[in-house]
Amino acid sequence: MTTPFYGSDYAALESFDPDIAGVLISELDRLRGGLQLIASENMSSPAVLTALGSTLSNKYAEGYPGRRYYGGCAEVDKAETIAIERAKALFDAEHANVQPHSGASANQAVYGAFMNPGDTILAMSLPMGGHLTHGTKVSFSGKWFNAVGYGVDPETEDIDYDEVERLAKEHKPKVILAGGSAIPRLIDFERFRAIADEVGAIFWVDAAHFIGLVAGKAIPSPVPHADVVSFTTHKVLRGPRSGAIVCKEEHAKAIDKAVFPMMQGGPQMHTIAAKAVNFKECATPEYQQYAKDVIANSQRLAEGLKAKGIRPTTGGTDTHLSLLDLRDVDVTGADAELRCDVAGITLNKNAIPFDPQKPNIASGIRVGTPSVTTQGMGLAEMDVIADVIHRAVTETDGTPEHPVAQEIREQVTDLVTRFPAYPR
Ligand SMILES: *Cc1c(COP(=O)(O)O)cnc(C)c1O
Repeated sequence: MTTPFYGSDYAALESFDPDIAGVLISELDRLRGGLQLIASENMSSPAVLTALGSTLSNKYAEGYPGRRYYGGCAEVDKAETIAIERAKALFDAEHANVQPHSGASANQAVYGAFMNPGDTILAMSLPMGGHLTHGTKVSFSGKWFNAVGYGVDPETEDIDYDEVERLAKEHKPKVILAGGSAIPRLIDFERFRAIADEVGAIFWVDAAHFIGLVAGKAIPSPVPHADVVSFTTHKVLRGPRSGAIVCKEEHAKAIDKAVFPMMQGGPQMHTIAAKAVNFKECATPEYQQYAKDVIANSQRLAEGLKAKGIRPTTGGTDTHLSLLDLRDVDVTGADAELRCDVAGITLNKNAIPFDPQKPNIASGIRVGTPSVTTQGMGLAEMDVIADVIHRAVTETDGTPEHPVAQEIREQVTDLVTRFPAYPR
């Protein structure tokens, strides 16, 4: 290196601000010390973290490469152009916008591009597996737009496509949205496309959760079928905390204008550089293997839990996550989350379809394998994880002193010592 690199200087931070330096270290210890099973989390690479901790964070670059409202953008232009080209190549997309600050910001931009206040959107309802930004009353999406929600079939617990079609014909939505935060199964994009065409709607896929599996070519891509695909970059994809949008060329202008200046100000150029690094990582054979392993692990974990009497909704999973119904073991989602947490297992309570409990209690938990797979764990470890989840949920009481909780913590420590997060 010809110039000293000023990012990621931990020693300097520690001497100036031991309070925050201490948080950074203890958070790393927390990550390393337990099993991370939150389906929307992952552990991005040191290369991604280095780009995030760089001086690109300083640069104002409102606009797009070659068309900025500020001087001095030659270097950040290169970073954004590389990120755009890599995103287009990775997803075989006609157009990419890499500026959204997050998944929710990306979604705002899609609303901004295609809808006016009062227009109708047809999306999966939150309690059935959708996302806050898909039309819930507490979100801008439900306050400013007329959101009609579809759900799942009570028998299969998978998306009720006949209901989607019926509601589309009845409400004539401007936009039909597929995707959510608790959908364990593959989505039939062809069917959605056909329904959207039937009623003349824009077909939007929010691929926040599963885009990493698409990038790794482990599941079919929504990109050929959808008008627009929004996603986060920090879930299975394993990039920085951020968002992005890919779309058909015909919508490129509308999307770009909706991201900036309609919804956002200056883009975060350090995060855009980190997205570029991540897209390069995702194009490697190693990442493709990773994506396949994430699913194999997820399926093994769901089978393991099922064998112990904890039922995965829909009977299993095709993706990185499964949703477990705890009613057969008579434990609430909230209790299960606490019991697991105390035993060194981080996961979240989650509503299951037609959940009789309130959302802050819930009858289920959601488990995902992106993080443990990044750590190198495989099928044998999934059997151990199924066992410790089952025992934590059914044999402990949420107190750290419980002997079974202590036993489980030892097993967890053994696993994370053999498969460390961010190895030293
Ligand atoms: C995570 C998620 C989002 C929001 O992403 P943020 O980066 O947290 O704003 C949007 N849609 C879906 C389906 C998600 O799972």
